[in-house]
Amino acid sequence: MRFDIIIVGAGLAGASLAAAFKGSRYRIALVEGRAPAPAPSGWDSRIYAVSPAAQGFLQEIGAWPHLDPDRLTPVYDMDIRGDADGRLNFSAYDSGVDQLAWIVESGLMQRELWETVKRQGNITLFCPAQPQQLDIRADAVSLRLVPASASGVLTSGETLEAALVVGADGADSWVRAQAGLQADTLLYGEMGVVANFECAQPHHNTAFQWFRPDGVLAWLPLPGQRISVVWSTPEAHARELLGLDAEGLCRRIAAAGANRLGALTPLTPPTAFPLRMMRTPRIVAKRLALVGDAAHAIHPLSGHGINLGFLDARELSRALLELPEYRDCGDERALRRYARARAEEVALLQWTTHGLQRLFRPQHPAFSALRNLGLNLTDNLPVVRNMLVRYALG
Ligand SMILES: Cc1cc2nc3c(=O)[nH]c(=O)nc-3n(C[C@H](O)[C@H](O)[C@H](O)COP(=O)(O)OP(=O)(O)OC[C@H]3O[C@@H](n4cnc5c(N)ncnc54)[C@H](O)[C@@H]3O)c2cc1C
Repeated sequence: MRFDIIIVGAGLAGASLAAAFKGSRYRIALVEGRAPAPAPSGWDSRIYAVSPAAQGFLQEIGAWPHLDPDRLTPVYDMDIRGDADGRLNFSAYDSGVDQLAWIVESGLMQRELWETVKRQGNITLFCPAQPQQLDIRADAVSLRLVPASASGVLTSGETLEAALVVGADGADSWVRAQAGLQADTLLYGEMGVVANFECAQPHHNTAFQWFRPDGVLAWLPLPGQRISVVWSTPEAHARELLGLDAEGLCRRIAAAGANRLGALTPLTPPTAFPLRMMRTPRIVAKRLALVGDAAHAIHPLSGHGINLGFLDARELSRALLELPEYRDCGDERALRRYARARAEEVALLQWTTHGLQRLFRPQHPAFSALRNLGLNLTDNLPVVRNMLVRYALG
């Protein structure tokens, strides 16, 4: 079975990459272990702050216009507090933009990208399917899928051939491991505790963030009087939060956010995910590229994890779509162009986020004074503040 590009993993990064080849000459094989879950009746506690740059890409590939507008929340203001009297505000109005970001539920976006991909004539979906063996030769790659008899549930056992394979298979990427690409992981010893709540007072489309001695607490606006909470906190504290009853958790989270939106009532049970920074010195190799969490992971305090994945997909698709017809899409120069285009932004965000996480950890009062002074100084320098906003917008 001959294709131009094989993408392993149809999460947000892989599915958006596949969708970006709509109407192109490339034939795409998209290999996914499991299809997205059916639409839940309630709210998804895994949410993303989609930057304007990532939103532009989703618009370009035709997925954004299909998202239910009643489930999208624009963020107009950001209110950031230090662990003493430090304060920093960002506003869409002051920065001359319509919104700073959009808050979108993960499940809704995943299903919409899945539908976008299914509408495309040049994509063949292999799902559920698992790769078994990857061979990279000078002129092509071949990927053997697990045969039906070996897995019990899978129906495929084909060997796919293509000019390029893309690993979009998440943080524990099988493709990355097969290619022997190094991944340096730093475990923070923290978890992101996520849950959604109704709040007694309106949030006015403001995202709140507190740098606290017990981690970074973010309240992100959802439609109506609802918020999504992400508390990045040491594992022991995360487990304690997960063990609280619904009422106890609401009280704890409301108090940690200085009761800014009044009393909270639960919408979803809390869940948690481990936090790590992962750097891959090389995201391309011969006839191979990595995108999304397969290529990098960052602490969620910047809210940019998935934006990096979407912009990987945008840059890789651009590099390949620009190729003249006589070049195949495993072209080394195009892959290097992609790697160069992503290197600076990914490294800068990873180290800034990591630096902030480290800066707010020590409990000594001298550190506390210094970091809160830093927040206040930035807040008083509109030029620096607007520069930060412009950079975050992409
Ligand atoms: C429980 C949880 C909650 C989270 N909450 C937040 C949050 O609130 N905010 C935030 O910014 N980030 C959050 N994250 C992180 C965020 O989900 C990831 O950054 C994002 O999903 C990365 O997208 P991706 O497409 O690169 O990888 P993934 O979402 O990991 O997608 C990889 C895809 O590849 C498939 N796959 C993997 N291996 C194979 C294989 N061998 N064969 C075939 N298919 C394969 C998987 O089934 C999956 O569909 C959370 C993560 C977890 C686990």
